[in-house]
Amino acid sequence: MSDEVKREVEHTLWTGDYYNEGTGRDDIFDTLKEECGVFGVFGHPEAASLSYYGLHALQHRGEESAGMCVSDGVNFNYHREMGLVKEVFDRDKLLSLQGNRSIGHVRYSTSGDSRIQNAQPLIFKYRDGDLAVATNGNIVNAPKIRRELEQNGSIFQTTSDTEVIAHLIARSSKDFVEAAKDALRQLVGGFAFLIMTNDKLIVASDPNGLRPISLGRLGDAYLFSSETCAFEVIGAQTVRDILPGEMLVLDKDGMREDRYTEAGRKALCAMEYIYFARPDSDLNGANLHSARKRMGQMLAQESFVNADVVTGVPDSSISAAIGYAEQTGIPYELGLIKNKYTGRTFIQPSQELREQGVKMKLSAVRRVVEGKRVVMIDDSIVRGTTSRRIVNLLREAGATEVHVRITSPPFKNPCFYGIDTPDRAELIASSKTIEEICKEINADSLVFLSNEGLIEAVGGENKGDYKGGLCMACFDNEYPTETHFDGEEKFGCSC
Ligand code: SF4
Repeated sequence: MSDEVKREVEHTLWTGDYYNEGTGRDDIFDTLKEECGVFGVFGHPEAASLSYYGLHALQHRGEESAGMCVSDGVNFNYHREMGLVKEVFDRDKLLSLQGNRSIGHVRYSTSGDSRIQNAQPLIFKYRDGDLAVATNGNIVNAPKIRRELEQNGSIFQTTSDTEVIAHLIARSSKDFVEAAKDALRQLVGGFAFLIMTNDKLIVASDPNGLRPISLGRLGDAYLFSSETCAFEVIGAQTVRDILPGEMLVLDKDGMREDRYTEAGRKALCAMEYIYFARPDSDLNGANLHSARKRMGQMLAQESFVNADVVTGVPDSSISAAIGYAEQTGIPYELGLIKNKYTGRTFIQPSQELREQGVKMKLSAVRRVVEGKRVVMIDDSIVRGTTSRRIVNLLREAGATEVHVRITSPPFKNPCFYGIDTPDRAELIASSKTIEEICKEINADSLVFLSNEGLIEAVGGENKGDYKGGLCMACFDNEYPTETHFDGEEKFGCSC
């Protein structure tokens, strides 16, 4: 590390805002950012402990803050803080959160927006009592609704979209369930909501099912989670995914299946399969590890290249690399290793520090790649800078050729439904050809998985539907909802 870099580290250690490097791929990498994760329990005396383990399993979806609100059917007990689940909750805090139902949240946010007021669940007092809301996703028309509410006297406490639904419910003169239906019908975007009052819990998915949320059972208790891996952790059974436009209502009489609107075209986020969700989760009846393996196999069919080893960029591309290797007969090797213990850092990512940062988090295994022609599998290329650094890591370790294979089509368009993406102009595939990107990332060859190959590989219950039941807007610019309101566009994540 040069003296200049050291000085910058020392300076930012003491004066800079921290950014959360966490355990996932993060600001040092120019990859996409996870959105948020929600976890709910209804009807279990240890709701807080179950939520703790559930949220811990969803940690990769948001490392900025964590929180849960627990109710005994009368009182609300809640705790929210900036930090990882294991930092936010200890034994005493969990013991203080008594009740048999809860909603919990892990949040990712952009750095300018990372403040405790936005940590969820958001809690409100309203006409009929207490209201807690946790969500994953993005409401595209939230700024418009917010402006209208403010013009009519509403005072917002946070910058989070989630508060919009609380205001819509609170202003309604109907009972809670009907008010929630009316409110949900006004929202456009991709979202999964958990909404709790003193005596009810509502679970709702957007009309296109863009953001995942599943139902599980543990004995008599009902569980809800952004990913099914959280059910496995606590020994619960996965029952099914919540359907587009569906609303489940839970109260003392059990669970009632309802809907607040007709389903639109099924459009589950394709990036959940490619990158976000954990490989031990299932979506739409398809296991993520198996789907990623098939992506690697499809990629091999579409883009075979003579090579000596196949390696995957950890962690999300390992399954696909195994699939590519199986299909081609080229041996799979751990050519890249991720350092899982970098933890949090206070280093601000200047250009030179970014280069150092990649080496802090990833190492090329010299004895595996030296003198070898390497196929490097990765899940996506956003700006191109990360891919170039990883290709260079392999070259510095002695790889004679590096052939990059990407398990998604070129990422050209921003996401409006909860994934934090850079502006279109910063997405390398929006302005450069594949040959130009190949040159920019210093690879010997570069191939992206085709749209058809992706749909085929994902499989699952919706395989025969339009686009396999997937949203692929960031690849093909075909958004499943309206995206502009009052001439504004609002992409990214603003849970
Ligand atoms: S635009 Fe892309 S990232 Fe956003 S929901 Fe659709 S597939 Fe997912």
